Amino acid sequence: STQKQFLLAAEGVNKTFSGFKAITDLNFYLDRGELRTVIGPNGAGKTTFLDLITGRTKPDAGKIEFEGTHDVTRMNEYQIYRLGIGRKFQTPTVYTDHSVWENLLLSLEGSRGVWSSLFHRPSSTERDRMDEILKIINLTNQRDWKAGALAHGQKQWLEIGMLLAQNAKLLLVDEPAAGMTDIETHKTGELLLSLAGEHTIVVIEHDMVFVRQIAAGRKVTVLHQGSVLCEGGVDEVQNNERVLDVYLGR
Ligand code: ADP
Repeated sequence: STQKQFLLAAEGVNKTFSGFKAITDLNFYLDRGELRTVIGPNGAGKTTFLDLITGRTKPDAGKIEFEGTHDVTRMNEYQIYRLGIGRKFQTPTVYTDHSVWENLLLSLEGSRGVWSSLFHRPSSTERDRMDEILKIINLTNQRDWKAGALAHGQKQWLEIGMLLAQNAKLLLVDEPAAGMTDIETHKTGELLLSLAGEHTIVVIEHDMVFVRQIAAGRKVTVLHQGSVLCEGGVDEVQNNERVLDVYLGR
């Protein structure tokens, strides 16, 4: 087929919560390897959109195709996870009583269940991959620490590492720099930029300094009232009249 295949294509998606339209005729297309930042005021529908992609919420209408073949709106959360869609919530959800290494192991073997995975002896290939991930997320020296002992920023990075261990093709990352220091925020940006290309990433973000760091030369999507208000380069969207109206309340 000569038709372009997107990694993710959402078309005509609608979601109403007891009469309130959270998502309205949303169309969203994502190429493989993109690092796409999604911005938008509170209540714009960003979280709901991620909930729809991961199967946490079902739409009233529309479809969300992954890799051109799977309509995730017809699948459950577990099936979607197995397809290779990973999500990182704003607040880190690591296993605090387990080591950094075990947290990665749990994600690697996530599909086999927590208990069996703790008894799973990783193959040498799996161990190499976990070592590689520890390097990527800069936690090699904290490998045997309990995750609960990590600094806030390090927990966020561990969670990104868990998405890598899961081997997610699409990483959905909700406000990865929330609660971080400026230095941690900048490091998080560098981490995401280093993963782009090899991985496809959607980042929801408010902090415009951070957005400018990760979105330079890339496409940004602005959501408003459950639809795409505009898409384009970061300067383009920041100077867009409709975006200014929404953010500045003009
Ligand atoms: P954002 O993440 O952009 O701030 P959300 O997706 O959280 O926006 O919310 C979009 C709108 O949908 C908000 O007005 C919110 O109150 C509403 N909403 C989200 N989830 C629910 C729900 N489970 N029940 C009722 N209303 C909801």
